Parts: sequence; structure tokens; C-alpha cells
Amino acid sequence: VIEIRDLHKSYGALEVLKGVSIRAERGTVVSLIGSSGSGKSTLLRCCNLLEDSQSGEVIFSGEAVTWTGTGLARRPADRAQVTRFRTNLSMVFQQFNLWSHMTILQNVMEAPVTVLGRKPAEVEPLARSLLAKVGIGDKADAWPAQLSGGQQQRAAIARALCMQPQALLFDEPTSALDPELQQEVVRVIKDLAAEHRTMILVTHDMRLAADVSDHVVFLHQGRIEEEGPPETLFGAPKSERLKQFLSATL
Ligand code: ATP
Ligand code: MG
Repeated sequence: VIEIRDLHKSYGALEVLKGVSIRAERGTVVSLIGSSGSGKSTLLRCCNLLEDSQSGEVIFSGEAVTWTGTGLARRPADRAQVTRFRTNLSMVFQQFNLWSHMTILQNVMEAPVTVLGRKPAEVEPLARSLLAKVGIGDKADAWPAQLSGGQQQRAAIARALCMQPQALLFDEPTSALDPELQQEVVRVIKDLAAEHRTMILVTHDMRLAADVSDHVVFLHQGRIEEEGPPETLFGAPKSERLKQFLSATL
């Protein structure tokens, strides 16, 4: 359902992605692992067109992005298409980025109402049910500052789900949390995986990646160094760099 083909991405002279291809089939979870600076966040942001790229294809549900310009000037040509990609590929960030001046319920309802133009009265029951689903149904009227980090991240996941996206993109959703709070969020991500949601997950949590992924991709300096099913990648890594990375993280 989400496909990246031979993507190249530079920031000025710095080439961050050097020809990366990934594919997340509908109903599967692909995890991206790799050292800091290897290009994981950049790749994720290219999937939903939060970042431009210089060459290569971004395809979602069979629809390839149409580009205008070349090289560093390459941009998506069609704003409606960009909105469609961002709406259908909803992203959850390491820093939950909730609006501090809105209640939790208002945060969850905001994008469907303002971006999709849906009626608040229609969105509210969905928003409340999603808050209940992530275990914070009682926090709808609280302010973000009144929630723990784990609760805020679960609110951010409810917010992403409220767009009713076809896929979810997670960028280190547990990294900002204390270990005991990480488990609350891990639980929610496991539930979503069990529902066969399409997800791309960037994580430093190798156990989470091993538990939920159908496919794991190890990025090293902007290239795929090794990829495969979690059993093989974690159980029988081939590349020296991956072995090193795993022994440093486990
Ligand atoms: P981490 O695990 O630390 O989050 P990452 O794998 O997500 O790392 P990226 O954030 O994708 O790495 O960054 C890849 C490279 O691109 C890094 O060298 C980073 O400094 C560079 N980079 C990222 N964003 C920008 C930007 N907006 N402008 C310039 N360089 C950037
Ligand atoms: Mg990152």
C-alpha cells in the first residue's frame, strides 16, 4: 500500500537518502531501525510528503506522486494529492506535539474538522471512542499538561487515528518516555498491529520491532544495509554493521 522506490534525498550538499526502496503491504508493519542520523525520520517524512526528495518514486495505494522540477527543485505538483497523502498517512511523533491550549478531546477532533471539513458533532463520538480505545477515555476534558507523557502519547495516537488514515507512521513514539510509561504506548501499538493496521514504525526499541513487525529494515548512512523478517534480522544478522548495531542496543 505504501511504496518508496529508489529515493534520493539531500539537504544541500548532504545526501541523506542514497537510493532507498521500501514497501509496506496493506495490513503489515514495517520497522525502520538504524543509528542516529542514518535517515530514518527523513525516510518516514518523505512517505507522507512532509519532505521533498530529489529523485525516486513515492507511491501510495497505487497512486504515484506527480513531481514538478528536477533535483533540489523537485516538488509535488499537485497540492490536493499532497493533502490526500498526508491525510491517509497519519504521523505520530516522538514529541507528541499536542496543542496546549486545547483539551485532549479538542486535540483529537481538530484535524478531521479543520482539514477534512467534517462536522464536530459527527467527529466527537469517534474521538471519544478512540480515547477510550487507547485507555484515556476519562481524560477527554483534561488539558495536555495534566497528562503523563504516556497518556499524552496515547492521546497523540488517538489524534492520528481520528483522521481515519489508511496507514500510520510512527517516529520513535516511545523514545521520550520513561521505561514504565513506554509500556503503555507499546501496548497500544501492539493492539494496532494485531488489528492489521498498515504501519511504518521507526523505533529504538528492538523488542517492540521484533514483536510487531512483518519486515524490518536496517538503515545505515542513508542506505538499506540489511532487511528481512524480524526472526532473521534479529536472530541471524548477516552484516557486520547490523551485528554491531544490535550488540550496542541490546
Ligand atoms: P535519529 O535516530 O537521531 O532520529 P534519524 O535516522 O531519524 O536519526 P534523520 O533525522 O533522518 O536521522 O537525519 C538524517 C541526516 O539528515 C542527519 O545527518 C541530519 O543531520 C540530517 N538532517 C535532517 N534534517 C535536516 C534538515 N532539516 N536540514 C539539514 N539536515 C538535516
Ligand atoms: Mg529520527
